[in-house]
Amino acid sequence: MKDWGFRTIIEPFRIKAVDPIPILSRHERLQALQRAGYNLFALKADEVTIDLLTDSGTGAMSARQWGALMTGDESYAGSRSFEHLRSVAQGLLGYPHIFPVHQGRAAERILASTVLYPGSVVLNNTHFDTTRANVEQVGAVGVDLPVPSAADPEDRSPFKGDMDVDALDSALAEYGDRVVLVMLTLTNNAMGGHPVSMANIEAVSARCAEANVPFFFDAARYAENAWFIHTREEGFENWEIRDIAQKVFSLGDGCTLSAKKDGIVHIGGLLATRFDDWADKFRNSLILGEGFPTYGGLAGRDLEAMAIGLLESLDADYLRYRARSVAYFANGMEEAGIPVVHPPGGHAVYLDAGRLLPHIPPEQFPGQALAVALYLEGGVRSVEVGSLMFPGSRLELVRLALPRRTYTQAHVDYVIEVAERVSERAQELPGLRIVHEPPFLRHFSARLEPQGPGFGA
Ligand SMILES: *Cc1c(COP(=O)(O)O)cnc(C)c1O
Repeated sequence: MKDWGFRTIIEPFRIKAVDPIPILSRHERLQALQRAGYNLFALKADEVTIDLLTDSGTGAMSARQWGALMTGDESYAGSRSFEHLRSVAQGLLGYPHIFPVHQGRAAERILASTVLYPGSVVLNNTHFDTTRANVEQVGAVGVDLPVPSAADPEDRSPFKGDMDVDALDSALAEYGDRVVLVMLTLTNNAMGGHPVSMANIEAVSARCAEANVPFFFDAARYAENAWFIHTREEGFENWEIRDIAQKVFSLGDGCTLSAKKDGIVHIGGLLATRFDDWADKFRNSLILGEGFPTYGGLAGRDLEAMAIGLLESLDADYLRYRARSVAYFANGMEEAGIPVVHPPGGHAVYLDAGRLLPHIPPEQFPGQALAVALYLEGGVRSVEVGSLMFPGSRLELVRLALPRRTYTQAHVDYVIEVAERVSERAQELPGLRIVHEPPFLRHFSARLEPQGPGFGA
C-alpha cells in the first residue's frame, strides 16, 4: 500500500459545488438554544455553523453518484437499479439475499420483529441506540459485551471495539437457547467508535458456529473498520481494503447496514443474509412496511447512488485521508485542553466530558453541558453520548462526527479554536435538568434547563 509521506493531509478530491453555511451572532445562538430546550437535535440546521451532529446521511456524494441518479430505473418491480445494487452488495457482502431498506433502523426493525420474541436475547459488543430500541420494542433483551478497555478513554489499545469473548462464553452458557442472535457493531459507535479486530471477529464467529447461534454484523462502518484492520492488525498490511471487508462478512451470517455512513448516501440501507428461511420472513415484513423487495422504501436513483457509494468508501486514499483527519482533530482537541477518547477512530472524535467537567454529576449531564457550550461559543453542533442518550452510561462523552468528504481542514481548525475557548472556562459550565422526557430514545426530543447561569443566559 503506497504511503502518503507528507505531514499535510490533503482532501483527495476537489470541490465542484458549494453549499453556504450560516454564521450567527452569540445572541442569536443563545435564543436558538432557549427555543430548542437546550437540545441540539431541536435546532434548525440554519442555526448551525459546523454541523458535527452525525456522519449519517451528511456526506458529500461524488460526481459519479450524482450522475448515476439520472440513470435510476424507477420501475416498481425488477428495477435495473436494484440489479446493480444487488450485484455490488452480493460481491461485497457475499450473502445471497439482499434487501434494500430506507435506512439502517428499518433493517433492525425487520430483523428484530421477525426473529426475536419476548424474553429472547441478543448479544452485541455494544448495541447502538436504535438497535437497542428495536430489540426492546419486541420485548427481547439486548446485552452488551464490550471489552473492559473500551470503558477507559486513556487506554490506547488498537481494537477497543472488540467483544469480550470470555463474557460471550458466559452469556451463551447463562442464557442458553434464549440467545437468538449475536451481533458485532463495526465500528463500535456507542462506545467510542473503536474498530473490531479480525481476530475478534473470527473468535466470535467460531463461538457462534459452535453454539449454533446466528451471527450478524451491524455494518454501518464496514469500510472504516476494514481500514483499521489494515493499518493496526498484524498480517493485513498488504491486503486490499475490499478483501478485508469481504473476509469480515464471510465470517457472519448476515448484516444490517446503514448506507448513510460508509455507503456515502443521503438515505438508504441494507438487510442481508445467507439464511433462506430468515430471508422469507424479512421479505414479508419488508413488503408490509418498506415496499416491494426490489426497492425497499427507496427510489431507483437512491439504489444507484448506494451501489456506487458502497465501493467508493473502500478507496485507500479516501480512507487514509479520513482516518488521518479524525486523528488530527482529536489531537487538536486535546491540545485545546479537552480530554478525548483514545485512540481516535474512523468517524468521530469523542470528548471526555466526565473528565473535563468533574463538577457536574452524571444526572446533570456533563456531556450535554459541553455540547451546549460548543454550540453557544461557535455554532458547532455535536451530540451527547452519555447519561442522556444511555441512562446509566459509564462514560460521559460528546461525539463530534465528521461527515464524509464535507468539511475541510480549516473547518476542523475552527472547531478546535472554539473548543479552546470553551475549555478555558470549563469550570463555570452548569449542569442541566430534564423538564420534558419522551418514552423512547429520549435524547432526540427531551427538553432541558440549565442548573446555573454559566451559559450566559
Ligand atoms: C446509524 C447507525 C444505525 C442506524 O442507522 P440509521 O440509518 O440511522 O437508521 C445502526 N447502527 C449503527 C452502528 C449506526 O451507526
